[in-house]
Amino acid sequence: AKHAGRGQASCYQSGMLEQIAARHQLEQDIKAAIEQRQFHLAYQPILSLHDDRIVGYEALIRWEHPTRGRVSPAEFIPFAEETGQIVAIGQWVLEEACREAACWADDQHVAVNISPVQFKSPSLRAHIVSALDRSGLPPHRLEIELTETALVADGQALAHILGEIRALGIKVAMDDFGTGYSSFAHLRDFPIDRIKIDRSFVASAVTDSHAMAVLRAITQLGQDMRVPTLAEGVETQEQLELVRRLGCDDVQGYLIGKPERLDTSSISQKKYA
Ligand code: C2E
Ligand code: CA
Ligand code: CA
Ligand code: CA
Repeated sequence: AKHAGRGQASCYQSGMLEQIAARHQLEQDIKAAIEQRQFHLAYQPILSLHDDRIVGYEALIRWEHPTRGRVSPAEFIPFAEETGQIVAIGQWVLEEACREAACWADDQHVAVNISPVQFKSPSLRAHIVSALDRSGLPPHRLEIELTETALVADGQALAHILGEIRALGIKVAMDDFGTGYSSFAHLRDFPIDRIKIDRSFVASAVTDSHAMAVLRAITQLGQDMRVPTLAEGVETQEQLELVRRLGCDDVQGYLIGKPERLDTSSISQKKYA
């Protein structure tokens, strides 16, 4: 049943008239999903290359639709951004991720994706404060992941929001680094605690010397700026050795572990020792 949704989900995007109806249906379905708690979170481990320990987990939303099966976030998140529903979804993700992480046996951080729409909504700070308060999770264990599109527009206002959020004691990672239009300007203009290097660089670096040069340059830049770098999408031993050699601080990818639902008791360092 897990994969039954894949083919069917594409009926959300067929012909013209159908498309309008399907979009309306999807909006209704998301509304129901929020109300009926059809979402859950999967967690993907983040490995530190300094001590080969799992130092955190990225929370990734999963939607088990009652009839369509699993609907990919790559499909419904952009849609929910258009309708504004992402703000309610994002609030739930923050609450749930903090609540679950607070029960983990060890003190790994939890990384939560924040949509650009959510980042620009005036309620974000209150949602973060509420999630931390209600869960009791220490702020230093929460990290938010922003893509560069969150940082486009009024730079000063955004830098201010970012400053307020970091003042809570939580960390901010720049997600999919290198895929935006002005990655370096963003790095210069915004205070950032971690660079997540997009997996497209990692994938091509093994065979393509130009991609390798870019990957090396980003890693070096992180070192010079004293901002830790994380290589995303590490799938092979060869890629792992490469990013280790280049000096990346952390890695994430199918080689280390796929996103999985976690029961609290399974989270401990022992599992990975
Ligand atoms: P992302 O934030 O860049 O998350 C990483 C995506 O890459 C995840 O896909 C993950 O399953 C996948 N991935 C991890 N390791 C590998 C690997 O080694 N190889 C390959 N090919 N893929 C890998 P997923 O879970 O389908 O999420 C897709 C995107 O949806 C995310 O990209 C993120 O932009 C968005 N998303 C997911 N959960 C949330 C959420 O709670 N809130 C928001 N706003 N967006 C979310
Ligand atoms: Ca992410
Ligand atoms: Ca990413
Ligand atoms: Ca992405």
